[in-house]
Amino acid sequence: MIAIAIDGPAGAGKSTIARKAAKTMGFIYVDTGALYRAIGLYMLQNDIHSSDEKAVCAELSKITVTLAFQGGEQKVLLCGKDVTPDIRTEEVSKAASAVSAIPKVRDFLFSMQRDLARTKNVIMDGRDIGTVVLPHAQVKIFLTASQEERARRRYKELVQKGQKAEYADVLKDIEQRDYQDSHREIAPLVPAKDSVRIDTTGITLEESIERILDTIRAELKNLNETW
Ligand code: C5P
Repeated sequence: MIAIAIDGPAGAGKSTIARKAAKTMGFIYVDTGALYRAIGLYMLQNDIHSSDEKAVCAELSKITVTLAFQGGEQKVLLCGKDVTPDIRTEEVSKAASAVSAIPKVRDFLFSMQRDLARTKNVIMDGRDIGTVVLPHAQVKIFLTASQEERARRRYKELVQKGQKAEYADVLKDIEQRDYQDSHREIAPLVPAKDSVRIDTTGITLEESIERILDTIRAELKNLNETW
């Protein structure tokens, strides 16, 4: 099996780029952020403060999170219900970031992520895939872009969706999430030592995908792996 880990901060374009690269390669694309988002959504739905570790942990035994793959697209089921579209709000992003700092939440999701890579060729994206979840992944990429560029992209996306947004607020959210994700005690966002760093600041989506595919091809060639 081949595993490709793509880590990086919020808004670097990981999911769009990884999804397209997986399609080109015929791999399964696993968006691990969706798992943390599902837990964040559960806490919001049940009026539980996402940074209240004790309260969050007390709920875990009542929660099931499953990933289903239909036609190459990932669906997220929370307690059996498809919540794929519901986890994409700013409120859920913040809740996801908060619950993801809780060790028991990470443990809860760990084996599911690892098991997926046991039986399928995967491109998995997240924050700790190359460092913790799949430390033996054949290819590790750390995908990043400047905070301003990521905020610009996110702002444009929100405006296109017809949502009200202020660039300054979007930038502040990105700065806050970066800080939270990279300063938590457990599985902080850091590039794996053996990762290839790709910065997408100032390059188009198509160029970013090409760069990722070139990197994957070169890395796999070095390992004599074919796909
Ligand atoms: O990637 P996405 O923005 O959807 O992730 C939502 C949140 O889940 C992130 O802010 C991060 O805190 C957390 N996360 C994580 N580890 C992962 C994937 C996501 O901690 N592997």
